[in-house]
Amino acid sequence: MRAIESSARSARRVLLLRVAAIALLAAACASPPPPSVLLVVVDTLRRDHLGVYGYERGTSPALDRLARRGLVFDHHVTHASQTVPSTVSLLTSRLPADHGFVHRRLGQFMEKRPHYPENLVFLAEAFEHAGYATAGFISNPFLTRHTGFTQGFATSRHWPGDRSAEGEEITQHALEWLRERDSERPFFLYIHYMDVHQPYVQPDAFTARFAPETDEPPVESYGRGEGLARADLVSTIAHYDAGIAYVDAQIGRLIDALDAAGIGDTTIVAVTSDHGEEFLEHGGLGHATTVYGELVLAPLVLVYPPLLEPGRLIAHTTQHVDVAPTLLELAGFDRPPEFRGGRLFDPPERVYAENGSHRAVYGDGYKLVLDRATGAVQLFDVRDTLDASPLGETDERALAKRQLRQDLDTYLRLEDRREASKGGGSSGIEPWSESDLERLRVLGYRAPAVD
Ligand SMILES: [Zn+2]
Repeated sequence: MRAIESSARSARRVLLLRVAAIALLAAACASPPPPSVLLVVVDTLRRDHLGVYGYERGTSPALDRLARRGLVFDHHVTHASQTVPSTVSLLTSRLPADHGFVHRRLGQFMEKRPHYPENLVFLAEAFEHAGYATAGFISNPFLTRHTGFTQGFATSRHWPGDRSAEGEEITQHALEWLRERDSERPFFLYIHYMDVHQPYVQPDAFTARFAPETDEPPVESYGRGEGLARADLVSTIAHYDAGIAYVDAQIGRLIDALDAAGIGDTTIVAVTSDHGEEFLEHGGLGHATTVYGELVLAPLVLVYPPLLEPGRLIAHTTQHVDVAPTLLELAGFDRPPEFRGGRLFDPPERVYAENGSHRAVYGDGYKLVLDRATGAVQLFDVRDTLDASPLGETDERALAKRQLRQDLDTYLRLEDRREASKGGGSSGIEPWSESDLERLRVLGYRAPAVD
């Protein structure tokens, strides 16, 4: 795989040339049917534990093969380090500060949706509206009708996400659905696997390959990890890797099925995750804690040979809110006006992430992390993907820090407005200023309606 210098411009040029060629072809022939779309989300999957991102333990042969057929996004940000805010951003093209599904407690997600924005449109709804057959096979207890996850799916099945080998069953159902569908109609198929998530328990063959010394991982719960023996950490990571290999085998089955049906090269396929997992890089285990790189960077592989040149590495920072609009564009459809992200091929000026009291903004070659609870601010080089070394102050950095902080304040105002509006009505909420609206537009995020 070769890296490209100005990856964004080059990718855009490739895309536009191909779009032009396809448009001419389409004009010459009867218009071809739109392509089908397969979107796979692997819960809790770190990018740096995959072969395609340089990991050397052989966790992901199927995904590595798939990646050679399309684009690999090298620095993709999920906006949050927990499932619901991240996945809702992925599928509605709205930042967490905007859609508001940001609470940690299960009960708050499972309540009726008191603060559910009425104009939130899920990607499945957009494809359903375009005449697609839609199906979701989802294994995560949070992604239910309460968080909008049944919207737009003509067929949806949910698994609790708490037992071993669910992935195999999900894949089986997806394959059956693919076999039985109306083959004249394009499809949008969404699959959400939980098998990489704790408790890191996999079928024996995978455990034996990666963690032969123990049947079960020594660490089963989230926590600070103090006092954890080095050997136990290594073993825990080995069990996590076994889960990746298991899900990778499921992804391989899906791709093989598309190829066997003769649609492997004409279906848009995207694989990503909702967040990573931390193994004491910043003192913790699990996720849903901070916004450091081990948690908010995700893999993203995007394959569609008719429009996307295979084997390219996209180096610029990309973000979850740009995935849904890009999938629609590749399929030949306009985005719904409710989507507020842009295109994966255009580098965003700023990218945001949040969790609990932590907020992050990427831009100008840096990443700024703010703890809203304490006011503490850290600056990192964007190439320090695990945020291992906070930078000391220089004049240049002080300037970058000020500018990033200013833009993060715009993001915080988006968030504060949403929180304030929960109280009912919009009285007492400071209206958007023209400069705020302009700043959001400059940042590549379509401004919310002025209300
Ligand atoms: Zn998750």
